[in-house]
Amino acid sequence: MELYSGHINKLIEELAALPGIGGKSAQRLAFYIIGMSPARVKRLSDTIVAAKENVHYCQVCQNLTDAQICPICANVKRDHSTIMVVENSRDLAAYEKTGKYEGLYHVLHGAISPMLGIGPNDIRLKELMSRLTDGVQEVIIATNSSLEGETTAMYISKLIKPMGIKVTRIASGVPVGGDLEYIDEVTLLRALEGRTEV
Ligand code: ZN
Repeated sequence: MELYSGHINKLIEELAALPGIGGKSAQRLAFYIIGMSPARVKRLSDTIVAAKENVHYCQVCQNLTDAQICPICANVKRDHSTIMVVENSRDLAAYEKTGKYEGLYHVLHGAISPMLGIGPNDIRLKELMSRLTDGVQEVIIATNSSLEGETTAMYISKLIKPMGIKVTRIASGVPVGGDLEYIDEVTLLRALEGRTEV
């Protein structure tokens, strides 16, 4: 016999499949949702659907945005000659929160991992290369200092250097294996300022 109704089970199952939510949290959330007013539940589900329908990748930097081109790429006051390459939108947000970086970004949405079978064509690298045609003077590689992040950094620098563009790597003030998004702003800035040419 099933412990809960089929609908509750299904809801718990869907919630538990989300990252960072274990079985117990999923159960708690499911019961909370069932206890909410129908209007609130509708608002929540409508918000999820609307976000999914309206959010897409910026045509230039591949960051998540509601517009064709994200506000960072569209900002003429930013330094369009510098591109910082990050693994995901959360890393971009971490650097953006420091408020000290004036250049543009490029979001790869992943990192090269031979072990997981993720190759250069599985991340947004082609899109980066197509941006390097006009006026770009420096590409700062700010991928994580994990094995995948380092592999990706090396691959990208080999690809870009022959084009005569300066390629730099953020300093390793970022702990090995550390996810950029969990690192404090001071460390992020130190890593950026201490970047070295590769
Ligand atoms: Zn953009």
